[in-house]
Amino acid sequence: MADTTLLLGQTLSFRADPFAAGVAESAVHVRHGGVALRDGLIQETGTADELRARHPGATVRDYGDGLITAGFIDAHAHFPQTAMIASWGKRLIDWLNTYTFPEEMRFADAAYAAEIAARYFDLVLANGTTTVCSFCTIHPESVDAYFSEAQARGLRVLGGKTCMDRNAPEGLRDTPQSAYDDSKALLEKWHGAGRLSYVITPRFSPTSTPDQLAAMGALWAEHPDCLMQTHLSEQVDEVSWVRSLFPEARDYLDTYECHGLLGPGAVFGHAIHLEPRERARLKEADASLVHCPTSNTFIGSGLFDMDGLMREGQRIGLATDTGGGSSFSMLRTMAAAYEVAQLRGRALHPAELYWLATQGAARALRLDHRIGNLAPGIEADLVVLDLASTPAIAQRSIRANDIWEALFPTIMMGDDRAVSAVWAGGRSVMPAASAG
Ligand SMILES: [Zn+2]
Repeated sequence: MADTTLLLGQTLSFRADPFAAGVAESAVHVRHGGVALRDGLIQETGTADELRARHPGATVRDYGDGLITAGFIDAHAHFPQTAMIASWGKRLIDWLNTYTFPEEMRFADAAYAAEIAARYFDLVLANGTTTVCSFCTIHPESVDAYFSEAQARGLRVLGGKTCMDRNAPEGLRDTPQSAYDDSKALLEKWHGAGRLSYVITPRFSPTSTPDQLAAMGALWAEHPDCLMQTHLSEQVDEVSWVRSLFPEARDYLDTYECHGLLGPGAVFGHAIHLEPRERARLKEADASLVHCPTSNTFIGSGLFDMDGLMREGQRIGLATDTGGGSSFSMLRTMAAAYEVAQLRGRALHPAELYWLATQGAARALRLDHRIGNLAPGIEADLVVLDLASTPAIAQRSIRANDIWEALFPTIMMGDDRAVSAVWAGGRSVMPAASAG
C-alpha cells in the first residue's frame, strides 16, 4: 500500500461556484495549508500543522509559498493541431482548409500520431493541465496514439475520433457507416479503460451529412454514459453556411438536436452567436458550453457572452481550443477570458477565472465529482504555482494584500514558468526528474 504524501504550501479550493454563490462563500484559501495524498486520491486537506500532526510518517513535499490547487482542465482541444498552432492570417473556414486539414491528413501515419501525442502531453503538463478533452482526427490511429500516451502517463483524459463525411478533402472523409463503426470500436476499446473516457465526436454540422449526424446520434443513444462533443456557432460566416446546408433547420443547434445530439453530456465548443431559442434549449437540455477565448480572438470569431450565459444558469467550461487557440496554457486562457469579458463590460474575478479553469471545466465534462478541486476523495491531480515566476510578476505580487491580488498577475502575465510542479493520480509527473 502506498504511504501518505503531504504537499505543503498555500492552497486554493472551492466549496461552491463563485458565479452563483459569490467569491467569499465559494473560495477557500489557506495561507499555510496542505493536501494529503494516498492511493491516487486526495485523502485530506487542512493547515500544514494539522496535517503534519495527523500524518507523522508521511513523505513531505514543502512547496513554501507555492500555491497548490487542482490541476487545470482543458475542456476543448485538438491535439493533432499541436504542430500548426499560431498559423497566420485566416478565418475559420480558410484556416481549416489551409492549415488544419493538411496537418490532420498526416495522422494516418501511426508513428507521426504517436510523436505528436507525446509532444502534446509534454506541453500541456508543463503548463499545469492534468485533464484535456480533445478531438483526434478521422483516423483511428490518432485516437489510439492519444489514449495510449495519456494512459502511460496516468492522466484522466477524454477524446474521440473526429467524424467528417463532406466538405473535407479526400483522405479526411469517412461515411456515416464507417464513422459509426470506427467510433463504436474505439469506444469499446478505450471508454472506461483506467482514467480514459471516449467522446462521440462529429466535427461540426458543415462537415457531416444529416445521415452521419443521425449515425452519431444513434451511437450516443446506445452509449449515453459517453459525452458528445462538437462545435456550435463559432463564426458568423459559419452560421450562414449551416443555414444554407440545412435549410429546414430552425437554427444551428437544431441541426444537432434533430439528429439526437442534444442532451446532458453534449459539449459544445464556442457557442458565441446564439439565437434565443438555442440558449433556451441548451439550458433546458443541461448541455455544456465551452468558452475558448484565445481561439475566439485569434481567429476573429467574436465575444462569448459569459455574464449573460452564466446568469441564465448555463453549464460553462473553459478551454484552449489548441491550435485554433494560440496557447497551451490555461493561465493565458484565463487572461483571454478576462479580456473578452471586459470587452463585454464585465470584469471577471480571479476566483471566477480560476473556477472556470478547474471546477467549471470539470463540471462541463461532468467530472466534477472526480477532478478539479482539492477535497477528500477527489483524484490527486494538482498543480503548484510560483506566484513570483518572473521579475515583472514578482514586483507586482509582492504588493498584494490578499490571495486574489497575489494570483491575478500570474493569471494575466504567467506562463509555463509559473508551473513549479504537477501531480497526476497522486504521482509527481512534472518536473520529470522528481518521481513521486
Ligand atoms: Zn475546436
